Amino acid sequence: MIEINHLTKEFVNTDGTILKVLDDISFQIGQGDVYGIIGMSGAGKSTMLRLIGLLDTPTSGSISIRGKDLASLTGKDKIAYYKTVGTVFQGYNLLMQKTVSENVAFPLKLSRYDKGEVAERVAELLKLVGLSEKARAYPSQLSGGQKQRVAIARALATRPQLLLCDEPTSALDSLTTDSILSLLADINRTLGVTIVIITHEIDVVRKICNKVAVLEGGHLVDNGTIQDVLTHQNHEITKNFFRKGEN
Ligand code: ADP
Repeated sequence: MIEINHLTKEFVNTDGTILKVLDDISFQIGQGDVYGIIGMSGAGKSTMLRLIGLLDTPTSGSISIRGKDLASLTGKDKIAYYKTVGTVFQGYNLLMQKTVSENVAFPLKLSRYDKGEVAERVAELLKLVGLSEKARAYPSQLSGGQKQRVAIARALATRPQLLLCDEPTSALDSLTTDSILSLLADINRTLGVTIVIITHEIDVVRKICNKVAVLEGGHLVDNGTIQDVLTHQNHEITKNFFRKGEN
């Protein structure tokens, strides 16, 4: 589904020097995968997610989705692509002055769904994430896990095929983390949504991912199925991650 080919991203520092944040990265994400991208802080994970979400463009190399190079998308095609991608953030990014229902309705209104469709879809999504009874609550009245459920419902509103998750459980305790991860796993299984999840926690990878890419200093040091990476892990950083997960 997603082909990442020799992807390189550089930023120019204020002093004019070049910072290579992603260096010649190639791997593939299949339809229906829950693909983890793990690395320490500064490894390049968020940059990778932004490139997949077409919020930024590569310096060289490409990302193709079903054979179409994202860099070639303009105008209507670009907007159409954004509609096929949902994003969930660590900090939820909810509209604090809006109710739970209004937050979930927001992307539907932007996409000009009619009133009846919006109400129906919001009810369906709140049921999916187990928050029907909180429809009229405000985000400040919710726990962290409930806020993340609202954010997940909102991200799924326009029926995306791809869900990008940026450290979605990093602000949550371990029990809540488990419930959010099992919700994401259910969504993957029942709706067939492909999930890319960036994290610095190996537990997240172990619990829901079928494949993983390990980033270190902008380099892809290991990737493949969890079992393959576990068996053939090449890099010290991969070993450290998996060792930590065993404690
Ligand atoms: P991670 O998500 O793994 O923590 P990031 O992708 O956020 O890593 O960042 C990787 C590196 O790129 C960091 O050194 C960061 O400071 C740098 N970086 C990210 N975005 C920019 C930018 N817009 N301009 C300059 N440097 C950036």
